[in-house]
Amino acid sequence: MSGLEDGLRLLELYGEATELADAGDAEAAERLLHDLRAEASGASMPNGRAITRDGDHLLADLLARREAFDEAEAILAELEATEATADEARRVRSDQARLADQRGDHGRAEERFAAAIGAARAAGASHRLDLIAAQRELAGFYADRDRRADADAVTRAADAASRELVFAYFAADRRPAVVRLAEGARPFTDAFVRELSHGAVTEPAALDPDGRPVPGGLHCCRIFGPLVDDTCLCGSLSGPADHGRVCAICHVEAVAASVRTWRAGHLALPTPVLHPMWKALVLELLDTTAHDFLTRPDRKVIWRDRTYELFDDLPGVHPSELQAMLLDALPVVPPDGPLALDRRLVDDAYLAVMTGPTDAFQLQRAVDELFALLAHG
Ligand SMILES: [Zn+2]
Repeated sequence: MSGLEDGLRLLELYGEATELADAGDAEAAERLLHDLRAEASGASMPNGRAITRDGDHLLADLLARREAFDEAEAILAELEATEATADEARRVRSDQARLADQRGDHGRAEERFAAAIGAARAAGASHRLDLIAAQRELAGFYADRDRRADADAVTRAADAASRELVFAYFAADRRPAVVRLAEGARPFTDAFVRELSHGAVTEPAALDPDGRPVPGGLHCCRIFGPLVDDTCLCGSLSGPADHGRVCAICHVEAVAASVRTWRAGHLALPTPVLHPMWKALVLELLDTTAHDFLTRPDRKVIWRDRTYELFDDLPGVHPSELQAMLLDALPVVPPDGPLALDRRLVDDAYLAVMTGPTDAFQLQRAVDELFALLAHG
């Protein structure tokens, strides 16, 4: 078989195994994952390793779930011995930590959770969400052991990292885009924006006439968190006894109000526009103007198609990173985040994106203005 056929065959096996696992047939999933491991040893394909590593992580998880701890540990040890990147190291350590925790080996769990954080940090800026997830896992581990001070310290670090991430999205960098690309700067993808988000802002309003957050709006408690510690919006949940519960009526999670300083939302755009910070580069590569790009529907398709040839001229840049220069989702900054400007100006800029534009060109202008405002906030 050719490398490509091998790769497709492995991908198919892995896909079937995840479907079976999702459907609850762990036994059949395990069998397929063992097949995947056997086939992979004789296969020769470029992406096979990534597929088989995913398969091994799933297999270790299934084994751990039925308490076959030694077998799960052996698979993870194999993954650890063959890991090539900091991101792979992070995944292995997280799985090892969870396994140790499940076995009751709390010393090893703590050490592995901490190692996962170290690896996520080493994986660099594009893995910041993994860093935050690793920090929250360690915080959860401490909370389960009633180590409040440790849990709070790690939670604060995770909150700070989340906050930094949302605001870094808008940070201004006026140097030429090719220079920034060469230095490793990359646009945040829409998938990343959605992963960072705690919910879609859909209502073009912030506060109602009484000054209370409008559900689904720019200050929504369901998305960004409660106004008062451990208290939902309708008042069904209130006080430490309700901590962590989600209200069945208003759907607000009863947690610390300080989550409103770092929880972001997102705004789905009706039509994609150019990322303001990378706009000049896209227009230069396509040799077109913003007006032509935005008003001729074929242009966006051409951009999506051409990114695969263009990235040959931009060493180290992946096509998906070029495609991220077209936005279809924007992060909504947390309502109580650290902004050095009037929050009403920020709300107005978001509302202008949501309500003003009647075409892509006007939408682009509103998005440009939002970025310009937040870049200095
Ligand atoms: Zn409620």
